[in-house]
Amino acid sequence: MNTRRIFCLMLALGSVSLACGKAQAPARPAAAPPPGLSEEEIAGLAWTFREKAVDEVAPGVYVARGYGLANSAMIVGEQGRIIVDTLETTGAAREARAAFDAISTAPIRAIFYTHGHPDHTGGTRAFLDDPATPVYAHENLPALLAEQQNVASGEYRVRAIRQFGLALPEDAPAHFLRLDLGEIQPPILPNAFIHGAGEDLEIAGLRLEVRHAPGESMDQIAIWLPDRKTLLAGDNVYPAFPNLYTLRGEPSRDVLRWSNVMDQLAAFDAEHLVPFHGAPLHGAERIREMLTNYGDAIQFVHDQTVRGALEGKRVDELAARIALPKHLAEEPGLREAYGRVDWSVRAIYGHYFGFFDGDAASIRPLAPEARAAHLAALAGGPEALRDAMQAALNTDPQWAAELADHLIALEAHTAEAKQAKATAFDRLAAGARNLNAVNYYQTQAAELRGEITVKDPVERLSPEFLATVPIEVVLRSMAIRLNVEKSLELDQAIVFHFSDINEDWTVHIRRGIAEVRRGRAEAPVCTVTIPAQVWKEILTGKRNRSMAFLANASIDGSLFAAKNFLELFAPEE
Ligand SMILES: [Zn+2]
Repeated sequence: MNTRRIFCLMLALGSVSLACGKAQAPARPAAAPPPGLSEEEIAGLAWTFREKAVDEVAPGVYVARGYGLANSAMIVGEQGRIIVDTLETTGAAREARAAFDAISTAPIRAIFYTHGHPDHTGGTRAFLDDPATPVYAHENLPALLAEQQNVASGEYRVRAIRQFGLALPEDAPAHFLRLDLGEIQPPILPNAFIHGAGEDLEIAGLRLEVRHAPGESMDQIAIWLPDRKTLLAGDNVYPAFPNLYTLRGEPSRDVLRWSNVMDQLAAFDAEHLVPFHGAPLHGAERIREMLTNYGDAIQFVHDQTVRGALEGKRVDELAARIALPKHLAEEPGLREAYGRVDWSVRAIYGHYFGFFDGDAASIRPLAPEARAAHLAALAGGPEALRDAMQAALNTDPQWAAELADHLIALEAHTAEAKQAKATAFDRLAAGARNLNAVNYYQTQAAELRGEITVKDPVERLSPEFLATVPIEVVLRSMAIRLNVEKSLELDQAIVFHFSDINEDWTVHIRRGIAEVRRGRAEAPVCTVTIPAQVWKEILTGKRNRSMAFLANASIDGSLFAAKNFLELFAPEE
């Protein structure tokens, strides 16, 4: 069994996957921003990534930027300091910590997570001098973490590598993002929770009004410092149109909830606003205007999408037509440099209606080969289709990419079609005014040319991280890799006794599916007793499979039957 590919399907890292498809982490060159984006368009984002620095945004409130993908904040009080968000890895956080320490060496009295995404929680070890230090988060955080560990996570990670351009050469504009690529550790879990709508706290001589602000995620908190008139806003606002939908894939977001949070944030009348991506904002009037515009833009896209759907318009039409009104489109905090309106329209439509656009023509669309065959016939044959593709490269690269797909579906001029598709993506990247789109185009162009391979970076998950993954997710991910053809006539079960967690699980192959359930089957082909952690490490390739199996597993029943059973989970090569 190709155990690494089985595990590819597991584990989520949430908002951002910190993983890289390359063997070596890039050396973080000072790359220029992507060509498709003007300096102005990325003005806010650029503040974060351009250089490593700590800025004092209000008296005693410092923000470290450029050390990781997100910002980290330090608030200095009379009796110590507070850290808010800890970047993605211990390595990135250590550097930020050193810069903070140059300002204050007062004891760290508390750490806060604005939310549970890994670019905000991965570096806590660098700040945790005393394990008893309270680490605060909203009580919804553990549920969010659990939700992120599902069978689709491997694909989320692969798409995240493309979205962040992590597999591109070291001098690629994508590395303008300062994403640290160390080994993926599990986050230090919070040990102090903010309940319900929020709590008022006093820590290190500082007054904090901590409020639940569910928007980008269900566990977001906003921290208001009344004595500094400063609002630490988490990821509910950053200086670009929000990622209401993310290319890396995720279950749909409740965007109206997000839009409502903007009113809540505006009500603080903050003089200083600290987002955790991008530059802080100053001035109560400007902050209120920006937060209002931000919420209005989200609601506008939501309302116009639903309105169009109620009028019977199809989702493609809505995605092509809905645009922000002028005053919102010109808001610097809403440039489509990160999220995009058309992706959001599709996601909102999908949230309410799923895949079907309401038109009977979409009930059973043509298969790709059939559509390609019809189109080739219409064009006058595959050669004519190829000529049209080449011509379109100069006039309409999107159309060129679509025509290339038809040729690939027909298996006609495949190599040329792939090259043309890569060229089309280069041209689309040059014109895309969106960081995620640029990276995705450039990565897939390089993949089509065979220059890079993007795979799930499962090897970057530390054993400690694996320990946090529920065994059920591991077994269900295995079930997805069942060889259907070889198991269509089978009906047999294997029992796992996971000795370290004292749990019994049955994997029951029944004619093309592998059912996973807790407990012991009546008459299994055999029972395998093995520590869950060893099994996880075998599946991720951290241990030699045969050796680890022989050394750690005891089998009640036939070893041969166990071997045959497990080999049914080999992927189709
Ligand atoms: Zn973030």
